[in-house]
Amino acid sequence: MLEIKNLESFYGPIMAIRGVSLKVDKGQIVTVLGANGAGKSTLLKTISGIMDPEKGEVLFDGKPIQGQEPHKIVSQGIVHVPEGREVFPLLTVNENLSLGAYTRSDRAEIEKDREMVFDYFPILAERRDQEAGTLSGGQQQMLAIGRGLMLRPKIMLLDEPSLGLSPLLVQEIFAILRRLNAEEHVTMMLVEQNARIALELADVGYVMEIGRIVMDGTADRLMQSEDIQAFYLGHQ
Ligand code: ATP
Repeated sequence: MLEIKNLESFYGPIMAIRGVSLKVDKGQIVTVLGANGAGKSTLLKTISGIMDPEKGEVLFDGKPIQGQEPHKIVSQGIVHVPEGREVFPLLTVNENLSLGAYTRSDRAEIEKDREMVFDYFPILAERRDQEAGTLSGGQQQMLAIGRGLMLRPKIMLLDEPSLGLSPLLVQEIFAILRRLNAEEHVTMMLVEQNARIALELADVGYVMEIGRIVMDGTADRLMQSEDIQAFYLGHQ
């Protein structure tokens, strides 16, 4: 579904992505693990068109999409849920969800999807008229995911959904991601520093260090790797 070939991205003279290749098949959950500054966010920004790559290709269903405007990439079903939740704090939960569906005009279907989001995240239904800025961190993360779902994504790019959340909330959100993949058939690519929870969820993993992929394999195989255990699972 998504294939990245020899991608390179820069911030001015700084090369943040140094020739990354990877693949996400339809229906899969793929995780990219890496420490702070490894280039994970930059990778997602380059896929979703927020940044243009210097070299390489991003293929979606076999067609190159690199360098296209973000709105064009979104309209093909590629939805980026950014780090830091980035909900609109002064708008209500409901208004944030409506904005998520901004590219759509099928009113009845949009309302169905809103109810679907509320089924997965009942707390958002309870707080639908509350300003998003008054939600807890975990609830804002749920809203960011919910807003992404309002676009009926074929693939969701999730930037560190566990960031800043308590272990219990992380478990809760990752259990919902698993259900969304199984029940709504949303393919997912998530970048994470929290290797353990990400490998528990994912089918396949890649490890990124200083802009490069240094290891990849099935999540089970990575979980058993001595290097992964020593460097990424040791302290969790
Ligand atoms: P984090 O978890 O902190 O977001 P990351 O793995 O997502 O880490 P990136 O944010 O993609 O890493 O950053 C990759 C590299 O690019 C880092 O060396 C970082 O310092 C650099 N970088 C990121 N954003 C910018 C920017 N706006 N201008 C210049 N350099 C940047």
